Amino acid sequence: MTLGDATVSTSTTTEERRAALEAIAAEVRVCRNCRLAETRTRAVPGEGHPDTEVMFVGEGPGQTEDQQGRPFVGRAGDLLVKLLSTLGWRRQDVFITNVVKCRPPGNRDPEPDEIAACAPYLQRQLEVLDPAVVVTLGRFSMAHFRPGERITRIHGTHAPAPGSTGARDALAYALFHPAAALRSTEVERQSYDDVAGLPRVLTLARERRAAAALPPAIPSHVERADDAPTLF
Ligand code: URA
Ligand code: SF4
Repeated sequence: MTLGDATVSTSTTTEERRAALEAIAAEVRVCRNCRLAETRTRAVPGEGHPDTEVMFVGEGPGQTEDQQGRPFVGRAGDLLVKLLSTLGWRRQDVFITNVVKCRPPGNRDPEPDEIAACAPYLQRQLEVLDPAVVVTLGRFSMAHFRPGERITRIHGTHAPAPGSTGARDALAYALFHPAAALRSTEVERQSYDDVAGLPRVLTLARERRAAAALPPAIPSHVERADDAPTLF
């Protein structure tokens, strides 16, 4: 099965989604809605394929991301790319972003008011992409999509993402943060196991969405663009 096999009934085109994502990114780059604006070098809106079914959501930019304005381009990013490659997936086939778009100084944890200030951007990205699967990377992302859970208990499992996040009908799949995997060989091993479960969750998410879709009054199925990512 490839991502190109999926049929989406959507009123937006690839170009419209690309433009909507770029409009959000442009706002993020000049945003000063929380104190993280004072210490960032560059805001990091996120990036990826406008037709993707899978969105990865990390915690917040680190030093390398802050310098480059791109998500997961440091050591944690290298591991994320390696984990994706075990599925034959490339970073440009998915969408990668963070709960907060600006680097917390010294890589401290993001504060609740910073997460709340930044949440509308993530919500709008989710509304535009309408992913089938949201992969949470680490505790702060998990807390957003799987509230009240513990990462040690639910890593490698899925549950419906709350609609209040902006996800219309997505399964949220919890992974450890790649930075945690860099600190512990046990967490690294678990991360490879958990990533191996992703294709099955994507299939499940597609089946749920297909079952939930009401037959349209007027056939309005839009085939995915030829350049849509082929995940598997
Ligand atoms: N860690 C994150 O949570 N996000 C990034 O973009 C990079 C490292
Ligand atoms: Fe704006 Fe989010 Fe950056 Fe805060 S972290 S300044 S809310 S983009």
